[in-house]
Amino acid sequence: MRPFSFERARDLGDACRRADAATQFLAGGTTLVDLMKLDVLRPERVIDLRQLRATHQGIEANANGVTLGAFATMSSAARHPAVLRDYPVIAQSLRLAASAQLRNMATLGGNVLQRTRCSYYRDTSWDACNKRNPGSGCAAIKGYNRNHAVLGVDDSCIAQYPGDLAVALVALDAQLDVQGPQGARRLPLSALHAPVNGQPQVETTLRPGEIITSVFVAAGPWTRRSLYLKVRDRASYEFALASAAVALDLDGDKVRAARIGLGGVAYRPWRSHAAEQALIGRTLTEGSAHAAAVAALEGARTHGYNAYKPELARQTLVRALLQARAIDVDSSAA
Ligand code: FAD
Ligand code: SF4
Repeated sequence: MRPFSFERARDLGDACRRADAATQFLAGGTTLVDLMKLDVLRPERVIDLRQLRATHQGIEANANGVTLGAFATMSSAARHPAVLRDYPVIAQSLRLAASAQLRNMATLGGNVLQRTRCSYYRDTSWDACNKRNPGSGCAAIKGYNRNHAVLGVDDSCIAQYPGDLAVALVALDAQLDVQGPQGARRLPLSALHAPVNGQPQVETTLRPGEIITSVFVAAGPWTRRSLYLKVRDRASYEFALASAAVALDLDGDKVRAARIGLGGVAYRPWRSHAAEQALIGRTLTEGSAHAAAVAALEGARTHGYNAYKPELARQTLVRALLQARAIDVDSSAA
């Protein structure tokens, strides 16, 4: 690990003021410290935000929606009664992520900002990684790319966004409250992760010094009938090969509204409006679910070892939709 300065922020304003482009914030540290040890992230200054837990870890729910403090731990959000009852897709995306120890330490803000698990990115003995070393190429395109993305990729990078929570949040149109040196702003989660556009080194649209303080999810007629389905190599402590976050508003078996996110297969948390449009106004059957899944994976680009992913993602989405149809919203809890 390289030398860096370590500072504790007194409060939010103090943290924003001190940060510059060479700063990384530390929340739970479970991504940051790993990547610093691997020499992938090389901040000159680390600002410890753990003081902010006292003021920014609350979870409040009312008829309008739920506000999740960005410094809440994954485990506290996953077991919150209102999240379990009214936003099961959020609770499940958290509970199916990482391990109990990690969930007790990691925060919601840090979770949505975790980095790709691409092994060429994480192993600095590989020169060719445009994300870590802009302009150097991409070792994964012709390498072992079994876990890599098939949606939202280009010739500069095919990294997979590995997180689960952000997939649920993008499906539910979550909004982020952000505080920075220029003041506060609200940002849709769908705009947080930058599209690849030949510049994979640009990971997010946050400005230097900006801190996510909370996440807001509006209540909707679809939020209770929601679930997160994750397919992975082993049943726990593993990232998604494919996942689906679905939320449905049904009139009998007819779809009034659908919200669909895909994980494990895309460069960033992926919202599939095409799949949603394919369902609206139709009876939800295996056939219509399959048509939506085909629409969701339209345009997928594979690179050899990840050729199985479009079909796995389609099957995952079909299963998630049919399971969501079966939820008894009057008595359900995750
Ligand atoms: P940190 O490591 O503290 O920070 C991460 C990044 O976000 C840093 O760049 C930091 O500067 C920045 N940051 C943190 N908080 C803020 C904020 N509020 N505002 C602005 N910037 C901020 N995740 C899954 O979703 N699914 C999994 O299956 C999964 N499996 C895992 C397995 C292992 C073995 C490990 C090590 C991790 C796994 N993870 C998984 C990732 C884990 O969930 C993340 O490491 C964790 O959520 C990051 O949160 P943190 O608070 O520790 O972030
Ligand atoms: Fe780097 Fe992206 Fe290629 Fe992985 S896929 S080696 S992160 S450029």
